[in-house]
Amino acid sequence: MSIYCLTVPSWETFPGLVHAFLGRTGGESAPPYASLNLSYRVGDDLSRVKENWCQVKKTLGIHAEKVTLMRQVHGNRVLTVSEAGEKEAGEGDAMITDRPDVFLGILTADCVPILLVEPQRQVVAAIHAGWRGTLHGVIEQTLTRLQEGYGIAPSALYAALGPAIEGCCYEVGSEIYTRIMTRWGQLARPAWRVTDGRYYLDLRTLHTALLQHLGLSPAQILRVGPCTGCHTDRFFSHRKEAGKTGRQASIIGWYRHA
Ligand SMILES: [Zn+2]
Repeated sequence: MSIYCLTVPSWETFPGLVHAFLGRTGGESAPPYASLNLSYRVGDDLSRVKENWCQVKKTLGIHAEKVTLMRQVHGNRVLTVSEAGEKEAGEGDAMITDRPDVFLGILTADCVPILLVEPQRQVVAAIHAGWRGTLHGVIEQTLTRLQEGYGIAPSALYAALGPAIEGCCYEVGSEIYTRIMTRWGQLARPAWRVTDGRYYLDLRTLHTALLQHLGLSPAQILRVGPCTGCHTDRFFSHRKEAGKTGRQASIIGWYRHA
């Protein structure tokens, strides 16, 4: 089976932009990491993860480059990546770069990978956004850093929200419902389905509302790919696979290598 990879069709018009939301097929890893696990931190055979990364970079046409990852902790720290070839940027849940040949990678299995682009300045960002990071303000922090550090207004940004768990599959405790509703009120209402005292959260609906509230144009926010929980044939799902699974990668960067 080949590598399964989703892109944003309208982003193909940005010359030099490399971006991808990868699925789980086409790799070398054995169950429960089968097969394109890209995390070195979930207990998988490291040589297979390395081979998977080689295949991914070949597929994306960046085989001589490095994809910069971070130690994701469901927090709100935003890292700036200014050197190509960095393997790990440190501990954080969002990365920004304005340099060519720097490729940012987010690892997920249900949490939302958010890719951001400002095509004129060729600045990109990648956010790891589950409910914890979102409550900690990782999206707001990233947009603030883009504004203050790069002079980029939210209205200039394009956002793509990759494959993530949706309301059909994602029941959470009432305390999470309370925390999110206390923080955002009516803005967060469309993200919930409440039946028989059970709370189902659609993270991407929450993130879309939040991004719009923060100033992105609705037309520039896209949802890419299906619910990870409904499609474990194509995507890793931490919830559906009871925590024993791999991680898929979402990648963005500007290729200007000579
Ligand atoms: Zn689902």
